Amino acid sequence: MIEIENVHKSFGSLKVLKGIDLNVEKGEVVSVIGGSGSGKSTLLTCINGLEPIDSGTITVDGTVVHARGTDLNKLRQNIGIVFQQFNAFPHLTVLENVTLAPRKVKGMGRAEAEEIAVKQLTHVGLADKIKVYPGRLSGGQQQRMAIARALAMSPDYMLFDEVTSALDPQLVGEVLDTLKLLAEGGMTMICVTHEMGFARDVSNRVAYFESGVMAEIGPPAQIFGAPENEATRKFLSSVR
Ligand code: ATP
Ligand code: MG
Repeated sequence: MIEIENVHKSFGSLKVLKGIDLNVEKGEVVSVIGGSGSGKSTLLTCINGLEPIDSGTITVDGTVVHARGTDLNKLRQNIGIVFQQFNAFPHLTVLENVTLAPRKVKGMGRAEAEEIAVKQLTHVGLADKIKVYPGRLSGGQQQRMAIARALAMSPDYMLFDEVTSALDPQLVGEVLDTLKLLAEGGMTMICVTHEMGFARDVSNRVAYFESGVMAEIGPPAQIFGAPENEATRKFLSSVR
């Protein structure tokens, strides 16, 4: 379980998160929507300890992320994160990209790492691409490789930051389908997304962020059907 309690975060004098409270249960899919600069990406980077916070607490399965003495490397093994931009190692094959962290970080042997990698690559529909270099993949395939790479560490949690935003429109669907499969498989996920159809169809809850505040959170039927917050309503009418 991810427990976020009254989290404040600034960059210099700019307050980016202003008292965020959010609990994400095991197996839950929470989509985070909201305008540019509202703090969505910052929240994800705080959850896996990439960014320090000013105050409040973030706890993942009982481990306080920003406590002194927390083993962030260990924590991050359990929280996969995939970003908008692809960050593949161009000189490594798809298989090598996916086996790298299990081998280097977890010290896994080659055979076991490859077995897991092939399983994850098959899961994301890239079984026939394991020997090619990332430069030969389409954007959607590269993004699915990035997802397989995160999954190869067997995380309990996955954070997705607009993983389809850099893709050509015709490639968005294949990546969303991959996320949907993962959700159906019971993965606990926080997905920052501009894809309102995905947020509506796949999430258990949708959180609307505005200016560093979680202005509203609720089931998709509430957020998309009958938002309680005026700002949510305005945002949704601007993106639809
Ligand atoms: P978008 O939809 O455009 O991705 P976002 O909701 O993800 O926006 P964040 O990236 O979390 O927004 O940024 C929130 C605010 O914090 C923005 O004003 C941004 O300029 C600022 N910010 C983010 N990262 C940093 C940083 N490393 N240093 C300084 N300011 C930052
Ligand atoms: Mg962002």
